[in-house]
Amino acid sequence: MPGIRSTHFVCPPCRTALKRPVGQPGPPPPCAHCGHPMTDAGPQLAVPPRRDADGWAALAAVLEAGLRFPAIGCEADGPGYRPRTMREVEERRTAAHRTGRPVAEMLATRDPWDEDGPAHAPA
Ligand SMILES: [Zn+2]
Repeated sequence: MPGIRSTHFVCPPCRTALKRPVGQPGPPPPCAHCGHPMTDAGPQLAVPPRRDADGWAALAAVLEAGLRFPAIGCEADGPGYRPRTMREVEERRTAAHRTGRPVAEMLATRDPWDEDGPAHAPA
């Protein structure tokens, strides 16, 4: 059973991931494939399968926006919504563009076109 005591370091271009204990001092581990420092994506990341290029592209977009997958409160709470496909990413980028909201905020929104959401606010 996965706990929250380890975090996922990832290298999206290589689609590699490894687990490390949370809060380890020192620099991030290098990617075994390309040697670049890996990104600490957080304990709650569901690492996409290696063959899932779309899932990895979506993850890269999420990480580029500065979003992570932290353990918040009890484990069941999770980090909140994160897109898992590039279609979901593009949908949210479009919503961010139309509304002027930060991309990171939209990427963390489950339904960017929710009628109560900012996407439908009067211009
Ligand atoms: Zn790499």
